[in-house]
Amino acid sequence: MNVLEALQAINSRFGPSGQERRVAEKIRALAEPYADEVHTDVMGNLIVHKKGAGARVMLCAHMDSIGFMVTHLEDSGLLRVGAVGGVEPGDVLGTPVRFANGVLGALQQEEGLEEGKKREMGQLFVDIGAVDAADARARVQVGDMAVYHTPTYLSGRSIFGPYLDDRVCCVALLMALERVQNSPNDLYFVFTTQEEVGLRGAQTAAFAIDPDYAVVADVTDCGDLPGSGHTCSARQGGGAAIKVMDRSVICHPQMVELLRDLAKEGKIRHQMDVMDCGGTDGGAIHKSRAGVVTGGVSIPCRYTHTPQESVALSDVTDCAALLAALVQKELPPIERVGG
Ligand SMILES: [Zn+2]
Repeated sequence: MNVLEALQAINSRFGPSGQERRVAEKIRALAEPYADEVHTDVMGNLIVHKKGAGARVMLCAHMDSIGFMVTHLEDSGLLRVGAVGGVEPGDVLGTPVRFANGVLGALQQEEGLEEGKKREMGQLFVDIGAVDAADARARVQVGDMAVYHTPTYLSGRSIFGPYLDDRVCCVALLMALERVQNSPNDLYFVFTTQEEVGLRGAQTAAFAIDPDYAVVADVTDCGDLPGSGHTCSARQGGGAAIKVMDRSVICHPQMVELLRDLAKEGKIRHQMDVMDCGGTDGGAIHKSRAGVVTGGVSIPCRYTHTPQESVALSDVTDCAALLAALVQKELPPIERVGG
């Protein structure tokens, strides 16, 4: 699988939280040749099953992106929007956006705002070139969502694009799936929904699958940029980042150790991932039912949630290699109360 091509194919699909269907369709098409069963649940999660006799192992990456929802149409035809997921208003000024029906526009801010002050979503609007409210309403309704309309491309060692969080990990999961041959484990590759608004898809998927083990693939913040201090440990190009902790989960020591051992054995470049902000689907999964032995493999990402995120291509292949090593490793089923 060509990383950039697969990513561009997935990223060209519209898929903010709650509206991931188009992204799921593309991933389904890429996964089906390697799967025993594929289905979509009520929440929209895409669940790809690769049958095996042993422990149930759930790998997951989220399909949804952050976005913007129309809250109000001004008389002038400008649109007011609210954030869907974690948007920093100051990061998005001048960004082109598109709606599900293909309508294009640009995010801009009100005139006369004080320089250097933090921006609020309420000070932003989307200009879709409408003459007035009626013209705007003919093309976009209150409740419609928009996403960044920016390119996905390779420059030097890195991929740049919107929504690498978490489409790049969807690609890593597909790469791992492609490599599975007769795994001793019962494997579920889960492409989840609504992570950006509170790990919602992962919660129901974990309940339904009831896994013994789970590994979450997501991006992690980079600590290697000027001024970033030491609030997160990962650096771009440093290899698969084995998660120890973020704000949503303290990974099970058994899984941290296992992933580290597998990386060493397979000579896969790796680093440890500690992130003092944000969370992942692991936050919901590890607390599902009676608890799940949960870990994470992360791809270090710069400028997360901005219109142009960036990851090193080598980190994507390292992450895929580690996920593939994990699913091939025979894991003992977890003893459950009551047998
Ligand atoms: Zn994410």
